[in-house]
Amino acid sequence: MRLKTIPEEFKKALPVLSKIKAAGYEAYFVGGSVRDVLLAKPIHDVDIATSGFPEEIKALFSRTIDVGIQHGTVMVLADNQETYEITTFRTESTYQDFRRPDQVEFVRSLAEDLKRRDFTINAFALEEDGEIIDLFDGLEDLAAKIIRAVRNPHERFREDALRMMRGLRFVSQLGFSLESETAAAIEENHALLAKISVERINVEFVKLLLGEYRSLGLKYFVETECFEYCPGLKNQGAALLRFADLPEDTIKTEAQAWTLLLKCLDLSPEAVEPFLKAWKTSNQMIKQVQNLLKGLNFRLEQEWTATMLYEIGADVILVEELRPFFSQENQSLLAEKKYQKLPIHHLQELAIGGKEILASSDQPPGKWVSELLHELELAVLNGEVANDSKALLTMAAEKG
Ligand code: ATP
Ligand code: MG
Repeated sequence: MRLKTIPEEFKKALPVLSKIKAAGYEAYFVGGSVRDVLLAKPIHDVDIATSGFPEEIKALFSRTIDVGIQHGTVMVLADNQETYEITTFRTESTYQDFRRPDQVEFVRSLAEDLKRRDFTINAFALEEDGEIIDLFDGLEDLAAKIIRAVRNPHERFREDALRMMRGLRFVSQLGFSLESETAAAIEENHALLAKISVERINVEFVKLLLGEYRSLGLKYFVETECFEYCPGLKNQGAALLRFADLPEDTIKTEAQAWTLLLKCLDLSPEAVEPFLKAWKTSNQMIKQVQNLLKGLNFRLEQEWTATMLYEIGADVILVEELRPFFSQENQSLLAEKKYQKLPIHHLQELAIGGKEILASSDQPPGKWVSELLHELELAVLNGEVANDSKALLTMAAEKG
C-alpha cells in the first residue's frame, strides 16, 4: 500500500532520512506516527528507525544528543530546527525478568526490528516514497479496529509485561477491541505487571483514563484483571466498573481523571495522599487532586459559597467540568465569574497584613496575629467589611 499524499510532518523530515540513506544505511519512519497517519489522526513525534548503528548515525549529523544510546536512540537536531529520534534496528531477545531489557542487540534487518514491536498497528514502516511496509497485517487490523499483538501474544507480554497496559490504553484511545488471543494472553499473564515499575504503568494508565473510549478500556482492564496489580486497586473491580459506567464525556486533564477515579473508589480524604503516592504522582498533582475532590464533594451537594470559591481557587472551573459525570450541569462560566468577583483571591490581597496589625496594637507578636488575619479574610469574603485598611484596622481593634 502506498500513501497518496505524504503528510507535511514526514516531508519535513525527509532530508534526515535521505542523508542516512545516502550514507548507505536503510531508514524508515516507524511507530505511532505511521499508525496515526493511517488513522487520519494528528501526528506527534516522527520517529525514524535505521540499520545504521548509533555511532554511525552520530557521525552523519553535526548536532546530536545521546538520549538513549544504550537502547540505540540518538536525537538529531535537523536543519529545519526540529528534533528527531533515530533508533537503530534492534532485537530484545534476552529477557529474563519480564521487563524492558537493559541490553539490546543492534541488528541490520528491519524485519527483526518490527518483530519485537508490541502491536500490529504499531509495527508499520513507512518508506520515503510513501510505501507502507506491513509485515504483520496491521492494515487489516486497522480496518477491522483490532489491537493484536505482533506474532505470539504470550511471548510479547512475557518479554515486556508493560505491553499489556499499552494494549489497554490503545483500546481506550482508539475504541478498538482486543483480538481474542491477545485478550486471552493478557488475562493469563496479567500478574506479570507486578514486575513493572509503577512509573511506567502510571504513564499508560493515565493515557487510558484520558482516552475517548475510556469506558471500553476500563472494562478490559477489569476483565483481564490487570487492575489487581496496580497500586491501590486490588479488589476494586466493582468501583472501576462504576467508573466505566460514568457518562461518556472525555476527561480533559490528568488531575480530573484521578479525581473521578478517587470519587468512584470512595476513599476517605486521608487515604487520597497514600493512594497517589503509591502511583508515584508528583506532590503538586496530589495537592491539586485533593483540592478538586474537596471542591467536587462540596459542589455536588450545594451552591458555591464565597469561602469555598476562595479555598478551591481557579480550580473551581475544573470542578464544574466534572459535574456532568454525576448528571449535573457544568456551570463553569458562572462559577468563574463568581470567583473573579470575590473581593480577594489570596491573603496577600488583604489591604492589611501582620505588620499593620502589630503597629496598631500594644500586644507582642504571637499566633493571635495570623488568627486575626484569618478572621478578617473571612469577613472580607463574606462582605461584612470592605477590603480597606482603615475599615480592617477598626475591625481588628474590635476583635483583637
Ligand atoms: P503515542 O502516540 O502515545 O506516542 P506510540 O505507539 O508512538 O504511541 P511510543 O511509546 O511513542 O508509543 O513508542 C513508539 C513505538 O515504539 C510504538 O509504536 C511501538 O512500535 C514501539 N514500542 C514502544 N513501546 C514498546 C514496548 N513496550 N514494546 C514493544 N514495542 C514498543
Ligand atoms: Mg510515540
